[in-house]
Amino acid sequence: MTPGPRKAAAYLGALAGLSLTLAACSSGADPAAYPEDDVEIVVPFAAGGPTDTVTRMIAEPMAQELGVQIVVQNVEGAGGTVAAGQVAAEDPDGYTVLMHHIGMSTAPALYGDALAYDPVADFRTVGLVTEVPMTIIARSDFEPDTLEDFVTYVQEHESEVTMATAGEGAASDLCGRLLTSALGVEVTVVPYDGTGPAMEDLVGKQVDFMCDQTTNTTTQITEGTVKAYAVTTPERIDALPDLPTTAEAGQPDIAVSVWHGLYVPAETPDEVVEKLTAALQTALADQSVIDQMAGLGTTPVEHDRATPEAHTELLTEQIATWSDVIGTQGG
Ligand code: ASP
Repeated sequence: MTPGPRKAAAYLGALAGLSLTLAACSSGADPAAYPEDDVEIVVPFAAGGPTDTVTRMIAEPMAQELGVQIVVQNVEGAGGTVAAGQVAAEDPDGYTVLMHHIGMSTAPALYGDALAYDPVADFRTVGLVTEVPMTIIARSDFEPDTLEDFVTYVQEHESEVTMATAGEGAASDLCGRLLTSALGVEVTVVPYDGTGPAMEDLVGKQVDFMCDQTTNTTTQITEGTVKAYAVTTPERIDALPDLPTTAEAGQPDIAVSVWHGLYVPAETPDEVVEKLTAALQTALADQSVIDQMAGLGTTPVEHDRATPEAHTELLTEQIATWSDVIGTQGG
């Protein structure tokens, strides 16, 4: 006997509900007992860069709070979108967590239908981590010494100048686009798997300039292995007090800071997300994390921003903002 259409629909609905429940439990994980095994945090850029640095800073205190090991895994490619797509498809059990930055909100406008995931529908937010200023830096022997000179030089030599980025949608790409479009120039973009390797080439004088987070540039600026022109915040920062702001150096439109947050796949149970949020909050209150971040020009977000609510609010607001900005630039 074949079931009538309504019965068939109810049966299919029940099956769909069952498969969702099974998906949540497919790794055999019991949310109440979480975590019972190592947790992996996926970094969407190469090791040694700013996203990797921030992740490794919080991994140890988070692991202590959770009572298990945290393994940091670098999955590079396509400005961070390869890793995000991979985590979206993982079991929703809290054992695979994504660290991502502002690129989570620029990707929909930049990649459109080619994006394999929806940053809002396919993830749950765990909490914001930090907001990091960016710096405009160049190889130590690049001719211009100030941002004003840099503007003139790049406008006169645009066909020769090279800019390092971590791929389309990366923060370095976003800041670089803002800068080159403000100057009305097109330079040659050299994409890397992350700004860790890009920084090696900048110090090695293989590429001319880059915009990158202070978490990857403060040491090199202080040691003089790169030349610094400006920081992209409204105020100067304590870690680099001599560095002018972009506004002071005549480029007020280059204002961007790079927020980071943690994500898990969409069907992850509440209990698991709550434990990850609590571990994140503990890590951000850890004095050694606060000190390490201060030394690299940033601070942990306040306690009430290391929450899914504050993180989701920022993510959705930023997706709308960047879709306007990138859309109007013809991104
Ligand atoms: N700072 C890089 C970016 O441009 C990413 C990284 O290597 O962490 O987004």
